[in-house]
Amino acid sequence: MSTAVTPEPTKHELHVVKHAVCTFCGCVCDDIELHANEERIVETKRACILGESWFKHHTAERLYPDALIDGKEATYDEAVEVAADILYQAHMPLVYGLSNTTCEAQRQAVWLAELVGGVIDSHTSL
Ligand code: SF4
Repeated sequence: MSTAVTPEPTKHELHVVKHAVCTFCGCVCDDIELHANEERIVETKRACILGESWFKHHTAERLYPDALIDGKEATYDEAVEVAADILYQAHMPLVYGLSNTTCEAQRQAVWLAELVGGVIDSHTSL
């Protein structure tokens, strides 16, 4: 029986993302530097031990296409068109969730809810 050995990725094989945002806790540190191979985040510079654990349990591989429409792969622009149409036709859309979301993204969600005459709620209402 042979044992497969996965070699450690070399530095030149790693994808580096600077100024990544950690949304694990409310501090939302935005100066994290991530190093990832094709499957996993392997280094988290400037993240605390909680952030490091959070990042390292995420896979870096792309599991899904950029967008889906009715379960079928679509382009980002096509998905935005369909989403805009759904929101335009909705009676009172609910913008919901926003946990693990940056302040900038929350600001955009509130703006969107106001734009379409919807309501907004967070997961904390559960
Ligand atoms: S790095 Fe640590 S302190 Fe910063 S947001 Fe992540 S968990 Fe919070």
